[in-house]
Amino acid sequence: MQIGILALQGDFELHQTTLNRLEVKSTLIRKPSQLVDCDGLIIPGGESTTLVKLLRNIELIAPIRHFATHRPIFGTCAGSILLATEIANHSMETLGLIEATIERNAYGRQIDSFIYTLQLNLNDKKYEFEGVFIRAPEIKSVGQDVKVLGVVSGQSEGENIVLAENDQILIATFHPELTQDDLVHRYFIDKVRTKSKN
Ligand code: GLN
Repeated sequence: MQIGILALQGDFELHQTTLNRLEVKSTLIRKPSQLVDCDGLIIPGGESTTLVKLLRNIELIAPIRHFATHRPIFGTCAGSILLATEIANHSMETLGLIEATIERNAYGRQIDSFIYTLQLNLNDKKYEFEGVFIRAPEIKSVGQDVKVLGVVSGQSEGENIVLAENDQILIATFHPELTQDDLVHRYFIDKVRTKSKN
């Protein structure tokens, strides 16, 4: 199994460090032809507007959409913005691969970054996970085919979704590569493993 990590901008190296720790082969993706050898893809955090421009420049948008028809993709923070179908507070093209409405920089300037203990529900088991949020987006709502795997109590209103998936796509608004706990990466690797058997 080999996992590609989109390496155009942002926080890709730490995802590779995590995969190395888990002894999973990975490759840094900088052009469309490199996707062919991958069983899964990680789109890291960074700046979503910059990332989408770079994706367009090197003509990676259509190849990633095609990749998602048969292989899983995991987007963290800016990566989750790129994968969502709708951005509530910004007009920009996305890959549109998971039915979710997401708001960029949703937690305000004063608290641009924070750490919060999350309750995650993976394969019907509950886990605590240290969520690192950096100028994070908020998942406001998801479609019927999307399963919510983690929430956080909102600053002003109800609960915000922080981890969700559909059949092929996993999105996290936090940065699991910044903690030593590999739980979320292992969950994604299992998703990739299941798909590559099919
Ligand atoms: N604020 C960034 C954006 O809207 C995301 C931040 C991150 O990936 N840590 O693109």
